[in-house]
Amino acid sequence: MLSYQHAYHAGNLADVHKHCLLAWALDYLTQKDKPLTYIETHAGRGLYDLGSAEALKTGEALAGVTVIESALPRTHPYRRRLAEVRAMHGAQAYPGSPMIAALTLRQGDTMHLAELHPQEHAALVQNLTPRGAHIHRQDGLAMALSLCPPSPRRGLLLADPAYEVKDDYTDVPLALLAIHRKWNVGCLMLWYPILTSGAHLALLHDLTRAFAKSLRHEVSFPPAREGHRMTGSGIFVVNPPFGMQEETARLSAAYRDTIG
Ligand code: SAM
Repeated sequence: MLSYQHAYHAGNLADVHKHCLLAWALDYLTQKDKPLTYIETHAGRGLYDLGSAEALKTGEALAGVTVIESALPRTHPYRRRLAEVRAMHGAQAYPGSPMIAALTLRQGDTMHLAELHPQEHAALVQNLTPRGAHIHRQDGLAMALSLCPPSPRRGLLLADPAYEVKDDYTDVPLALLAIHRKWNVGCLMLWYPILTSGAHLALLHDLTRAFAKSLRHEVSFPPAREGHRMTGSGIFVVNPPFGMQEETARLSAAYRDTIG
């Protein structure tokens, strides 16, 4: 189907939730002097313009990154990535998850990104090829499964589906389980929406049953507009890095202090 376009939603409260935890986790993992692999199954374009017609139309970034970043210390890995991207691409530039990863990874680390949408894929190639990413135009979960166990074996996978297809809520946990069976040391991060319909509950049920060693973190926020079905954002992490629980508590406080 592929009708979802992230340019309308980049920098919103859900995006920032995911990006803060991703930036923190990769910052933590890169402190150890051993190479790692970063795999992303639904990459988007990697770099967004918050002054674009799409971003201005929804105004979601204004209620998202603009609000939350002020509640984080300047030294937070996410704020450092934001500052780097703005210094390189201008004040309205906003990093997608692949750019956050690229700015954190070191020489010797490996990055695989999948994106199916032709225009998003073309933009991703333009934005991330110069940073050494391997970019695949194929189904992201199938790509991940075919790469696992990756080399280097240490690493992190981010799955960030748009959940346009209802079956995602049942298929994604199965795909993560298959990936985990081939790569049991990998840190697997999955983003999911919290929906008034409760559609995400089946996903959570399957994930908690499948993965004993996991962490789940959710933030709630007002719907982006009247009638919008998303009232929060969740991250499910298999093999969470040491200290991530404490980081989620700090992030909850930042959301509470700013949006109530
Ligand atoms: N992870 C990105 C970020 O945080 O900056 C945002 C990704 S956006 C939520 C989801 C992306 O997945 C869209 O760009 C969409 O075109 C792409 N997509 C949809 N189905 C896909 C699939 N089966 N495999 C790979 N990419 C897919």
